Amino acid sequence: MERKNIICPFCGCLCDDVYVDVEEDKIVQIFNGCILCKAKLSSGERVKEALVRVDGELVPSSYEDAVESAAKILVESSMPVLYGWSNTSCETISQGIRLTEKIRGVIDNTSSVCHGPSLLGIHETGLPTCTLGEVKNRSDLIIYWGCNPVHAHPRHMSRYTLMPRGYFRRNGLMERELIVVDVRSTDTSKLADQFIKIEPGCDYELFSALRAALRGHTVPDVAGIKSKTITELSLKLKNAKFGALFFGVGLTMSGAKHRNVENAIALTRDLNQFTRFVIMPMRGHYNVDGVNQVLTWQTGYPYGVDFSRGFPRYNPGEYCANDLLASGSADSALIIASDPAAHFPRESLEALKKIPVISIDPFKSLTSLISDVIFPSAITGIEASGTAYRMDCVPITLRKVVDSGYKTDKEIISDILNKVVELQHGSKV
Ligand code: SF4
Repeated sequence: MERKNIICPFCGCLCDDVYVDVEEDKIVQIFNGCILCKAKLSSGERVKEALVRVDGELVPSSYEDAVESAAKILVESSMPVLYGWSNTSCETISQGIRLTEKIRGVIDNTSSVCHGPSLLGIHETGLPTCTLGEVKNRSDLIIYWGCNPVHAHPRHMSRYTLMPRGYFRRNGLMERELIVVDVRSTDTSKLADQFIKIEPGCDYELFSALRAALRGHTVPDVAGIKSKTITELSLKLKNAKFGALFFGVGLTMSGAKHRNVENAIALTRDLNQFTRFVIMPMRGHYNVDGVNQVLTWQTGYPYGVDFSRGFPRYNPGEYCANDLLASGSADSALIIASDPAAHFPRESLEALKKIPVISIDPFKSLTSLISDVIFPSAITGIEASGTAYRMDCVPITLRKVVDSGYKTDKEIISDILNKVVELQHGSKV
């Protein structure tokens, strides 16, 4: 029996204090992980072998034949979409960008359906932020706006924000205040010192009112919140020693979307005239920040990047996976480390069902049901090593804990890339 400390490859917290007992390359016990971590490390129906659809039926195939089928689909497409990437390593993503460039396709990630508007807001105003370590050591006021970490990031409050003892917050929870802003009561709001229930779609107005109140203006009732409460809240924010505002898709996907985020950042920037205040998106998939980082280094843009003209172009709303599927432009798809069939709108799903789909995933999913080529892969962070970015943009090395015998995502993408180049030019890269 062996015990190793590992990084949990589930959510953007990337908790690095999880322990597991390993017996004969199997995880038999998990310590420190939350319920989501335990579910990821111990369950899920695996894809056991490569499968290729022949005459409408998925049949077992050799790995080499599956690679050839996938490469042929991509080479013969005029607008292939390569989507997912948020649950795999930065090294795999880097190879994926090279593959997209070779086939003149579009590479998009799950940001386009979650924190894409955050990235657009950040393009406009920048991001006054810090690491989660700084929040832990310094913050005395925590705000969760449009998110429910008790369920989505179960250890966020205990490891980084509300509860831990920090260098300048020796008494942890006793020295911090929690404010939750949401449209409904949640398990997170039940823990809050103050819960502000706003009318749906009115976040932008409330940020504007808070900014006006900060400047000493009298504000009316806004977003269902009384004028007095807004004024008191603005004073509370102003008087904090170190405040941290965390926001989720409740903010990015409602009302003014990226303008909400822009205004939230503007409020944070305004607060820095009086005190120290930071803001951070609550990233969901464990490496969704990594895919934004790697895409930005290599192409200049964080998601929805189109290589159809041989150079990267960026126009969210036009080159994202959903846009291309809904408009009928995409004529093949490679899906890696995500399950769009379970999450995309119906019209995108209908379009996905009509085109050849290649999927790379350790587990069976709804997307694998409609795929034409399926590759089983090792679980990055458990069965394969790699790099991932925590939600505060800190890169963390994921270690391999057990040996599964499956190919890694990076190996599969590299093999498809080699085969694509061979088909295009008769030589390997
Ligand atoms: S909070 Fe997230 S990273 Fe931490 S153990 Fe739970 S699922 Fe894993």
